[in-house]
Amino acid sequence: MRVPFIAPWTGEKQTPVPLVRRPSLLGGGIGYEGEHPRLDRRNGILWVRMPAVRGAGYPRLAKVHALRQRQAMAHMLCQVCGRSTFGREDGTHLFLIAERSGVPIAEGEKTAVPPIHEPCAAESLQNCPHLRDGAVAAWVKNPLPWGVAGIEYAPLTLAPIPPAREGQELTFVPYESPRVHWTIAARDVVSLHDCTPVDVRHLMALAV
Ligand SMILES: [Zn+2]
Repeated sequence: MRVPFIAPWTGEKQTPVPLVRRPSLLGGGIGYEGEHPRLDRRNGILWVRMPAVRGAGYPRLAKVHALRQRQAMAHMLCQVCGRSTFGREDGTHLFLIAERSGVPIAEGEKTAVPPIHEPCAAESLQNCPHLRDGAVAAWVKNPLPWGVAGIEYAPLTLAPIPPAREGQELTFVPYESPRVHWTIAARDVVSLHDCTPVDVRHLMALAV
């Protein structure tokens, strides 16, 4: 089995950095001590610090490498093989979302799960039985930039704020919210529009 493009390796540990307030930002915000303006931020938003040395050590299959996830979302790269998912005649991208109790992908739904090719989806569903439980899929014509998912910090205490949704590790924050300046982003989030559902059994049948 191939190691998915967005899986981190043990050699790619997130580096904790001391936080500071950045009063220069409108409405305030957080920054890193000794921040690197080009490497630590993307479009003005602070991102987790994580080395990108794919293949170093052992893969951590259940986890996500924040910067490769961002790269995959920004360029619509397949989460498994890392190649482009552009090029279909109808201009759609396949999104496969696992562990959903079969709830179909809704119009405008927000996700941090990058797209996937049909054969790559078939391979994942075949090799990772836990993905099959309630997995749903759709062909999506318009995935639009929406925001980030990350850890939000309290302006007064600089303590992390637990995500509002139970069972979630990260808080979803839209680009237009001032809260985005109090967040360390760990995922790029898109909203899914013009969705056509795909039967996951059809994808599984493609597995060889
Ligand atoms: Zn692929």
